[in-house]
Amino acid sequence: VWSQVPQAPEDAIFKLTYAYKADQYDRKVNLGVGAYRDDDGKPWVLPSVKQAQTALIADESVDHEYLSITGLAEFTSSAAKLILGGDSAAIAEKRVASVQTISGTGANHLGAVFLSRFYGFEKFGVERQIYISNPTWANHKAIFNSVGIKPVDYPYYDPKTIALDFEGFTNTLRSAKNQSIFLLHACAHNPTGVDPTPEQWQQIADIFVEKGHFAFFDCAYQGFASGDLDRDAGAVRHFVARKSIPLLICQSFAKNAGLYGERVGALHVVSATPEQSAAVLSQLAVIQRSEISNPPAFGARVVKMILTEPKLYAQWQADVKKMAGRIIDMRQRLFDLLTKQLKTPGNWDHILKQIGMFTFLGLDTDQCKRLLEEGHIYLTANSRISMAGLTTKNVEYVAGWIDKVVRE
Ligand code: PMP
Repeated sequence: VWSQVPQAPEDAIFKLTYAYKADQYDRKVNLGVGAYRDDDGKPWVLPSVKQAQTALIADESVDHEYLSITGLAEFTSSAAKLILGGDSAAIAEKRVASVQTISGTGANHLGAVFLSRFYGFEKFGVERQIYISNPTWANHKAIFNSVGIKPVDYPYYDPKTIALDFEGFTNTLRSAKNQSIFLLHACAHNPTGVDPTPEQWQQIADIFVEKGHFAFFDCAYQGFASGDLDRDAGAVRHFVARKSIPLLICQSFAKNAGLYGERVGALHVVSATPEQSAAVLSQLAVIQRSEISNPPAFGARVVKMILTEPKLYAQWQADVKKMAGRIIDMRQRLFDLLTKQLKTPGNWDHILKQIGMFTFLGLDTDQCKRLLEEGHIYLTANSRISMAGLTTKNVEYVAGWIDKVVRE
């Protein structure tokens, strides 16, 4: 019965991971996957997470009953405070509808389904489309296509300057029809590592107010940009404070709590009134029921403990700082090796300037191919590397290969 089913291509990122695993070369380096690794290249269970897990497992009152459809209430409310701030007026005014989701991907999907059902495309006279940054996380296109909302690129990254194309971005914001939907990376843009400055965010928010655009925030790296959870929420909090900007936030705890496989996330929809917010929450619950019934409990309980117990929260802040700090240190080492030791031709300032887990090296496809095939250094063809894959033991090797492919 499935003779008409065509073979789908493999996912590019996961394909890279499988190829890395199969490679027998002893100096191979995986810079493809967007997951934190310690200085030995190993996955890291955060000490705060370990403490919460241990307490949970020892607690005999914890059972395996279903959570409610919208998830663990103490998790969603504390997750909302984490991104919006403990003093958020929107939370105090009961204008935030929060639902626990299957990590950030699930939040993006639930947000996309919600928009596809309830956003006033016809009323506002806008196409069923969402503007996404060029480039963006590859899954954004797939997620919006799957719910019948067409992803359309907006200029974001300028390969000539290896930096933000602020003019191109803001020109598109201005020329788009009023009340268009724009997807924004809250911080640590994937894949470029290029974020607007706080001043640029204010100018972007001004245009949202002027044009009545909807902001679809994707926040997968809170804490990874600066090492400071509050600072990384700056753009989102600024938009929410503007009040008149309609928005939602997709939140993932995969990276900042190292809970990749536990699938812990939330969707927060901010409305103009508490009445609208209650209606939004009721519809999110209807969608969630038909898709997953109820979200998974364990990871949400871990994060809830970390967010609500002051000692654990302080430990988590230190854990996040440690991860961000190691990444910043790797940026400096790679930069120093290329510029001071090897004197590699070209300007490498962007390695220091870019933010979060990823760096766009600015190499061409052939150079990336050589890194992979000859150097056994696994990276995506657009020259994105995960800084978390670099360690004090392999950074010299990687710098040496970058130098080689740039020179030859
Ligand atoms: N959005 C962006 C921009 C991401 O980079 C990621 C992770 N790669 C996600 C969302 C979602 O990841 P997860 O589903 O693992 O939380």
